[in-house]
Amino acid sequence: KKFVYFFGDNQTEGSNKMKHLLGGKGANLAEMANLGVPVPPGFTISTEACVLYMKNNDYPEGMWDEIDKNIDKLEKSTGKKFGDPENPLLSSVRSGAPISMPGMMDTVLNLGLNDETVRGLAKRTDNEWFAYDSYRRFIMMFSDVVLGIDTNEFENLIQQKKDELGVTEDTELDTNTMKDLVEEFKSVYKEKTGSDFPQEIKQQLKMAINAVFNSWNNERAKKYRQLNDISDELGTAVNVQAMVFGNMGETSGTGVAFTRNPATGEKEFYGEYLTNAQGEDVVAGIRTPKSIQALKENMPDVYKQLDDITQKLEQHYKDMQDIEFTIEKGKLYMLQTRNAKRTAAAALKVAVDMVYENLINKKEAVMRLKPSQIDQVLHPMIDPDSELELLSSGLAASPGAAVGKVVFSAEHAEEMAQNNEDVILVRTETSPEDIGGMHAAKGVLTVRGGMTSHAAVVARGMGKPCVCGCDGISIDMNKGVFTAKGYSINEGECISIDGSEGKIYMGEAELKMPNVSGELETMLQWADEIRSLNVRTNADTPEDAKLARDFGAEGIGLCRTEHMFFGEERIPVVREMIMADNKEDREKALQKLQPMQKDDFLDIFRAMDGYPITIRLLDPPLHEFLPNYEDLIEKIKKLESEGGKQEEIKRVNDLLRNVDTLKETNPMLGHRGCRLGITYPEIYEMQIKAIIEAACELSSEGTNVIPEIMIPLVSNEKELDFVKKTVTDTAESVMNEKGTNIDYLCGTMIELPRAALTADKIAKGAEFFSFGTNDLTQTTFGYSRDDAGKFLPLYIDKGILESDPFAVLDQEGVGELMKIGIDKGRSSRPDIKMGICGEHGGDPESISFSYEAGLNYVSCSPYRVPIARLASAQAVL
Ligand code: PEP
Ligand code: MG
Repeated sequence: KKFVYFFGDNQTEGSNKMKHLLGGKGANLAEMANLGVPVPPGFTISTEACVLYMKNNDYPEGMWDEIDKNIDKLEKSTGKKFGDPENPLLSSVRSGAPISMPGMMDTVLNLGLNDETVRGLAKRTDNEWFAYDSYRRFIMMFSDVVLGIDTNEFENLIQQKKDELGVTEDTELDTNTMKDLVEEFKSVYKEKTGSDFPQEIKQQLKMAINAVFNSWNNERAKKYRQLNDISDELGTAVNVQAMVFGNMGETSGTGVAFTRNPATGEKEFYGEYLTNAQGEDVVAGIRTPKSIQALKENMPDVYKQLDDITQKLEQHYKDMQDIEFTIEKGKLYMLQTRNAKRTAAAALKVAVDMVYENLINKKEAVMRLKPSQIDQVLHPMIDPDSELELLSSGLAASPGAAVGKVVFSAEHAEEMAQNNEDVILVRTETSPEDIGGMHAAKGVLTVRGGMTSHAAVVARGMGKPCVCGCDGISIDMNKGVFTAKGYSINEGECISIDGSEGKIYMGEAELKMPNVSGELETMLQWADEIRSLNVRTNADTPEDAKLARDFGAEGIGLCRTEHMFFGEERIPVVREMIMADNKEDREKALQKLQPMQKDDFLDIFRAMDGYPITIRLLDPPLHEFLPNYEDLIEKIKKLESEGGKQEEIKRVNDLLRNVDTLKETNPMLGHRGCRLGITYPEIYEMQIKAIIEAACELSSEGTNVIPEIMIPLVSNEKELDFVKKTVTDTAESVMNEKGTNIDYLCGTMIELPRAALTADKIAKGAEFFSFGTNDLTQTTFGYSRDDAGKFLPLYIDKGILESDPFAVLDQEGVGELMKIGIDKGRSSRPDIKMGICGEHGGDPESISFSYEAGLNYVSCSPYRVPIARLASAQAVL
């Protein structure tokens, strides 16, 4: 079995196709070498070796022999040797999993330096300062990433030296000071580990490889995998690569760049670099880097070469690339390329632009955007009209706006978020340890670091607003306060951040949704060309209906008429109806309600001109419209003790009696849905009248009205037949009266297991089915919709359930019932129209299931309509 793969120097063994085995980094290094891009040579130890190492707690047989052979090759290829005091080979050691994963051991640079080789390096490069600077960096990095020694131990020593010499930059420390630091660093190492700093190069390498393997299972990496659904079984590869030096003076440097702007997707060469520096300086955000445009002025030839190479890489990979490069004494090397992480807005723009550039086709573009990213494009922004005190500005690192209470630690952020508080995580800079806190926060603000700093990259990935490099603020962790512009903001006080503009404001901003951008329109139109599922919306108000039309909804899949009962002026009338003890009184109240319902329908029909509207007759148990029992008891007590009017006391007592009679032990399984329409047909009659009257009026004005009247909670075809008669009789009489004919449909929800199982019988009377997967999930699992929150999180935590079945459709159980319902329904009415209107109608996975199962449409809340349009196109591809 082969565990080690060489790359570079025309001897490359891997390629981009071998990501699983070589990890993303290793596969891309091999691919770049294959493309003739200048890459320092090296070798990759496969993920398989890591997996075997973890399984057996020992290295796989033959791995070290292969490593030795590859070291030989590397030495020949570079003309240098590990441990050679004359011409030492130095290498980097980096982890590289098949999926890019912050939180794992990242990088050790300058491996191969010891007390002897450092002198060799000094002689070869004729630069003693550089050699000792590299050595002290190596000791510090090795101690940190391989042995977990706190870098502050070393940073403090550097700071001391700077203070003594009265300088501010590392580069201002002289050679002797560097030498002193090397000795002091070695002492720290000895003190912390009890051993001398390893002088044997093979031992250094072995320890570093070990550390990479072990980092696969550290807490941060595990947490990241958990949050991102990455399998623990993948393992990581290890890349050992000859060093090139960006810290050999002013003609050297290192940087990171993107082939397009990762925040906006704009086609511009975008990046940052530092002269006389090594890779980690840029990423760590310790020195603030220069824009890549400065490189164009300083080293035009190198810039040109870099620009050419990155364009070649983008053309080759057909995707935006994120690259790392180093310039050693004017010679350019590429250290990494990968498909760039990007904001949702950038993902959208890049995908659309690349179609226009003929790099990818429309279908590929549609697959490039995750449906969830649409959520981010539809992120809130700060209302431009709001007047807020600007506290400070920084880099616009990740778009969107957020409002929350200031917290200074990731831990605290997680705690407060658990208590449903919105928080903004404010840090000097973030590190992988902060991932949990960033996830919990609404937004992230850092004092240091650039667009490629940890905070920026991670926040963008998470779709969280982030402002970086905001050096106008200073944090005092001990006092739990930050200051800016003379203001002090304590932990727990509210601020607002705008990650699209890079601005921080005092207090709570008003947030607003941005306009749907042109690219989103284009992308969704391409999705529309591909998809066959229709996308409707769940909307109960004219406003929501309009919004959903703007988002592209092709009709309403569920209008819950009960939501129209809750208005301030309506609820007393609704109560009057409920409390009537005879039919006559009830009808009086209903007559007052009818014009109100009709008005709503008029506006909704107008907003949905030409599109079907499924209107569901009253569904919830009536007591939902009455006040709370305990509150009424309180009220009576109060009235009595305060000597309130007898009349009033009687009124409340009547109410109380009604609430008491209507009280049910299991209201969700009680007197609701079509059961109400059977016991009180006059309620449904009123609703049907309102619908058909509105339809008649608009239809004679020329509006194209397509009502679909839906009967809820049917479990038996006789229920449907009973209510359907109310529907047809009432509609008939209204149409006769108005002299207008309306083409309406009458159908039912399928939201009870018995309905699904007897769908063939039900379909005889129903002209359409709408799967109410909320109730169907509730009744299939026997989980109360209102109480499942008490145990579902634990179920998910313990792995009993993979996800919340009320959010992601349970395909195995609920889905199976749906399939039965679909098949049986079509068996007796082949052309029956079917859709889904439960919460699942907006969930990408469930949409894909709905497509496979053969539904005609999905229906979801207005904001999820664009998500559903994209997801239903992706379901086809
Ligand atoms: C359902 O049960 O899935 C449904 C859409 O109806 P509701 O959520 O109103 O019960
Ligand atoms: Mg329901």
